[in-house]
Amino acid sequence: MDMLNVKINGIAVQVPKGSTILEAARIAGVEIPTLCFMKEKNEIGACRICVVEANEGRGFRIVTSCVYPVSEGMEVLTNSAKIQKARKTTLELMLSTHNKECLSCRRSTNCELQRLCNEYHTDENRFKGERPVYEIDYSAAHLVRDNNKCILCRRCVAACNEQFVSVIGANNRGIDTNIGQAFDLPLNNVPCISCGQCTVVCPTGALMEKDDTDKVWAALNDPTKKVIVQPAPAIRATLGEWFGMAPGTNVEGKLAAALRRLGFYKVFDTDFAADVTIVEEANELIERIQGGGVLPMITSCSPGWVKFCELFYPDLTPHLSTCKSPHQMEGAIIKTYWAEKNGIDPKDIVTVSVMPCTAKKFECGREDESASGYPDVDVVITTRELGRMIEKAGINFTALPDEAFDNPLSEDTGAAVIFGATGGVMEAALRTAYDWVTGESCDHVDYEAVRGTAGLKEASVVMNGLEVKVAVASGAAAAKNVMDQLAAGNPKGWTFIEIMGCPGGCVNGGGQPYQPQCVRDIVDLKAVRAKALYDQDAGMPVRKSHESEAVKVLYSEWYTEGFGKGKAHHALHTSYVARPKYTYDK
Ligand code: SF4
Ligand code: SF4
Ligand code: SF4
Repeated sequence: MDMLNVKINGIAVQVPKGSTILEAARIAGVEIPTLCFMKEKNEIGACRICVVEANEGRGFRIVTSCVYPVSEGMEVLTNSAKIQKARKTTLELMLSTHNKECLSCRRSTNCELQRLCNEYHTDENRFKGERPVYEIDYSAAHLVRDNNKCILCRRCVAACNEQFVSVIGANNRGIDTNIGQAFDLPLNNVPCISCGQCTVVCPTGALMEKDDTDKVWAALNDPTKKVIVQPAPAIRATLGEWFGMAPGTNVEGKLAAALRRLGFYKVFDTDFAADVTIVEEANELIERIQGGGVLPMITSCSPGWVKFCELFYPDLTPHLSTCKSPHQMEGAIIKTYWAEKNGIDPKDIVTVSVMPCTAKKFECGREDESASGYPDVDVVITTRELGRMIEKAGINFTALPDEAFDNPLSEDTGAAVIFGATGGVMEAALRTAYDWVTGESCDHVDYEAVRGTAGLKEASVVMNGLEVKVAVASGAAAAKNVMDQLAAGNPKGWTFIEIMGCPGGCVNGGGQPYQPQCVRDIVDLKAVRAKALYDQDAGMPVRKSHESEAVKVLYSEWYTEGFGKGKAHHALHTSYVARPKYTYDK
C-alpha cells in the first residue's frame, strides 16, 4: 500500500494514500469534530465543523477535513486558534435558527450539537434575527420531527436513502431550507416504513422516536391494572450502552432487575415467544413445502420489513409467513393462556414491549393483532425510552444485581436469543426444521453461513435428501434486491428467506441507544452487539426452540390442536394488507 508522510499538529505519521485529513487524524489518535459526516454514507462536507488548517507548501489554509485528501508532506493543524474561532462561529450560526430549548429537550446531555456548543463556549444569541418556526410533525405512530432543532446535516436523509426508501429530503432554498417529506406532506402520508434509522443518526433532538413512556407511567400508577413487560432479545445486548457500558455488553440480569424495580407486575421475556415463533414458522414452512404452498416463504418478525413489502411489493405479500412477530405472540399468550390460568380478565392487563425498533410502535396498532379481543400489546417503548425511564426512577443501573425473569413466559433457548441479529431467525428455524424433517436430533446447530453483517447471505441445507436454498437479507436495500429477484421468478430457487428491515437486524434497530457518529464510524456496532447474543447462545443448555420445556407445556395445556391449528392459529398468526402501491420511479 502506498503511504504518505504527513504531520498532524506537529506529530509525524504515515497514512495510506487516498486518506482524507479526518482519516489521517484518526490514525494519529486525534479526533476532529464532525456533525454532518457519516463514513461512507454522508461525506458531503456541508456543516463545516470539521475544518482544519492544512499546508501543502503554499501556506496554511482552511479546508474541510472530512473530504479533503492528504498529500505528501502535508502539515495539518486541527485545533489552532483560527480553527477554534471558525468552529465557534459556525456553531453560533447554527444556533441562530435553532430554538435552543435544551432544558426540556430529550436529547439534552447526549446531543452532539449541545456537546460541541458547550466545548466551544458559544454565545447562543450572537446572531439574532428572524428564524423560521416549524410546526412539529406528530402524525406518525413511530417518530416526531421538530425542525426547530434541525441543523440541516442531512444524516437522516442519508440513512433513509441507505434504506432505499428515500421519503425525506431537503425542501425549499436559503433560510427556508428544511428537511422533510416532499410537498411538506405529513410523515404518515408517505411510504415511510417506520424503521427509525433516521432517528438513530440524527445528532440533535430534531428527529426522535414518539415517546410513549407517559402511557407506561400512567398504567404503572393505575391500581386497577396489572402491567406486564417483555423486552426483545436484542435489548440485553444494547441497553448497557445507555448507561456508559461498552457496546456488546450483555446486561440480561440487570435488565430484569431494572424492570422489576420500575414496578411491573410481571417481568417476562420475549425470548419465550421467539421460541414459539420458531415452532410455528418451521411448521408453516414444512407445510408449505409438503403441501404446495407459496414459496419461498419469508419471515415476518420485522414490522419495518413487513411494511416495506406491503408498500412496495404488495403483490408478493403471500410469501410472508403469517406468524405474528414474537412480542405480539407473547402479548397474545399473556392475555389468553396466562390470563385464564391466573384468573385475570385481559381487560385489566396492560402489556408493554421494550423493543429495539420504532416500527413496533406502528405494528402494535395493526389490524388482526388482538387475540383476546384486546390489543396483544398495548404500548411499545424503545431501548432509549426504557433507558430514560430507568434514569427517571433513580435506579442505579450499573450497580444492579443480576436477576432472572419471571416464569413461565420467559424460559428460552439459545435459538431465541439470536433472534436479535441478522440471520438469527433463519438459524433458529433451520435448527428446528432440520430435526423435524429428518426425524433426528442433529448435534450441529451452528449455521455459520447465515451469520455476519453482510446485507445479503445465501446458504444451502440438505434435509433428508431435500436441498433447501435459503437467503438472509437485512436492511431495506437488501430486501429490495431479494424482492426484485422474486418478482423476476426466483432464479436462485430460494425456499426460505429471512428479511429484517434494519441493516444488521434488531441489534441495529431504530430504537437502539445513540452512539456519537465518531464511534459509529470506527466501531462495527452490528457485529459487536450480535456477538453478545451468539456468545450467550453458545453457552446455553438448550439451543433448539422445539426442545424448550415451556413451549412443550404451552402446547400440551393450551394449543392442544397443534402448531398452526385452532387456537394457535387464531392467536399466533396474522394477515397483511396491500397498501397503496409505490414504485421507485415516482
Ligand atoms: S437539539 Fe440539542 S442543542 Fe437543540 S435543544 Fe435539544 S439538546 Fe439543545
Ligand atoms: S423511519 Fe425509516 S423509512 Fe421512515 S423516514 Fe426514517 S429512515 Fe426513512
Ligand atoms: S433532522 Fe437531524 S439528521 Fe436530519 S438534517 Fe436535521 S439535524 Fe440532521
